[in-house]
Amino acid sequence: MAKGYQTNQERKMTLSSFGKDLARRARSKCELCESAGVPLSVFEVPPEPTEAVDIDQCIFICDNCREQSENLKKFKPGEHWRVLAQTVWSETAPIQVMATRLLKRQADSQAWARETLDGLFLDEELEEWVTKAE
Ligand SMILES: [Zn+2]
Repeated sequence: MAKGYQTNQERKMTLSSFGKDLARRARSKCELCESAGVPLSVFEVPPEPTEAVDIDQCIFICDNCREQSENLKKFKPGEHWRVLAQTVWSETAPIQVMATRLLKRQADSQAWARETLDGLFLDEELEEWVTKAE
């Protein structure tokens, strides 16, 4: 597919077409919280590219993670996110980026999140991506 500007409709269609490949990568578990047996969908890790959507910027996650990733106001810090201490070490860049952001959002209130971030090493490129959104 040619890269370039895509309409919203095209973007949505392309995103959902990634579902099959992402389901394989995710082994049918949420790529952030590792929940299995729940509906999963494609989430584009912000900021959204101005050009075409890119599978390397997408993760496959559950509705709960999606809602809390998308909406800062709905984000609830706490122990239930402890799984991020593992998923943040994923070899898949967009998972690392989103997990790092979720850890940062709760670093003030959760000691374990702070410790995970202290021990984390990200490539410069990913570090930069992390800071491009909250
Ligand atoms: Zn999840």
